[in-house]
Amino acid sequence: MASKSQFQAKKETTKQNQTEAERNAAMERIVSMARSNNDNRASGYREQSLRIHSHVCAKCGREFSQENLTELTVHHKDHNHDNNPADGSNWENLCIYCHDNEHSRYTEHLAANKPLLEKEREPEGATHNPFANLKQLLKK
Ligand SMILES: [Zn+2]
Ligand SMILES: [Zn+2]
Repeated sequence: MASKSQFQAKKETTKQNQTEAERNAAMERIVSMARSNNDNRASGYREQSLRIHSHVCAKCGREFSQENLTELTVHHKDHNHDNNPADGSNWENLCIYCHDNEHSRYTEHLAANKPLLEKEREPEGATHNPFANLKQLLKK
């Protein structure tokens, strides 16, 4: 008897005046949307991730409501936007700040690993530090 209100109470406090029929219709729409998402999986990943994962930033724990849900974005853990498993294992809900941070860290990570060789190729370039050249001379 109480199970219906228990189920609704948590997330749909604003929608409490909906009738059962309206709720069923909405549910049907969601199900058919989920089906059509199978046809264009990649474009629907945000909706899917927001449905699977809680509306909380996985990094800073900020909670989101319907009003500011646009600030909650979906991040691909392996940074591959084509990798969209239906179980959501490659998705992470991140607020725009943590998402930005995550990507700049990833870029730094790539930059730190990659251009070591490029730096060695341009010895007397950007830096005017005389000791940089000294170091190079000592190495030779
Ligand atoms: Zn965050
Ligand atoms: Zn991302």
